[in-house]
Amino acid sequence: MMNQTPYDENDALLRMTVCGGEARVALLRTTHTAQRAGDIHNASDVAIAAMSRLMTGSAMLGVMMKEQDANITVIVDGGGPGGRMTCVAHGGDLKISMHNPQVSLPPRADGAPDVAGLIGKNGTMTVIRDFGVGEPYIGKTKLISGELGEDFAAYYTNSEQTPSIVSLGAIVHEGAVLSAGGVLVQAMPGCSDKTLETLDLRAMLFSGISRDLFEDPLDALAERWFHDLEPVMLGRQPIRYHCGCSREKARQMLKSVGRDQLLEMLEQDHGAEMTCHFCHTRHTFTEDDLKALLGSDMN
Ligand SMILES: [Zn+2]
Repeated sequence: MMNQTPYDENDALLRMTVCGGEARVALLRTTHTAQRAGDIHNASDVAIAAMSRLMTGSAMLGVMMKEQDANITVIVDGGGPGGRMTCVAHGGDLKISMHNPQVSLPPRADGAPDVAGLIGKNGTMTVIRDFGVGEPYIGKTKLISGELGEDFAAYYTNSEQTPSIVSLGAIVHEGAVLSAGGVLVQAMPGCSDKTLETLDLRAMLFSGISRDLFEDPLDALAERWFHDLEPVMLGRQPIRYHCGCSREKARQMLKSVGRDQLLEMLEQDHGAEMTCHFCHTRHTFTEDDLKALLGSDMN
């Protein structure tokens, strides 16, 4: 489809301020992360595009948060044939699950993947921010378009009271991710109307973001889009697909189902097998493992 080779660099998020600190910007490449998600879930092209957009939007939330070490979970449930998607972001570490990742849909008339058709637009986006202490903060918004870029922008604007522009994109061809990423432009409190107007106009530049990411490194895009807005680079954070599940965590989860259910597993199944939704690793427990669990302090 495209004659050039894709621009290849490690997945990352660039953070910067523009307009004398009146707004902040996050610019992301998530090509390898999206490829990993597609491979793990054996997903269709449109499902990879959908997962890539959700992961990119979640990474924006994860990295732009003040609180270090917080977990962000974003659940999108739009009633479409792809089913529910759940993405977890911890800093630059991302993982995702999708109910029906093999569902395939023809591209839209303009050639773009039909992400809204797959996700559906009659539903909600739920954002759970878990700071590790105290109750998690849960925000819910109605899906507007199901294309996810607009939906993330609405979440920021309504739930966080920060006017935001979000553009997400991916090019996927026969299971290969050629580019994926996005850009977030967010007004800071006290941002002037003039700056808001300037940034609004800038949004048009992002309409071909998947193509731009295909051709150029993040630094070149930052320069092209923001060079006249006093950009100040704040940092570069690596992004990767990382599950972090382990046999020990699976064991703790098994323990939490309670004595009765464990006894049932022991008697009926003579063991237990837990498959991780995010990386498909199988954690298996033998009859003896279950007996040991039952013998230990169940709390
Ligand atoms: Zn896992």
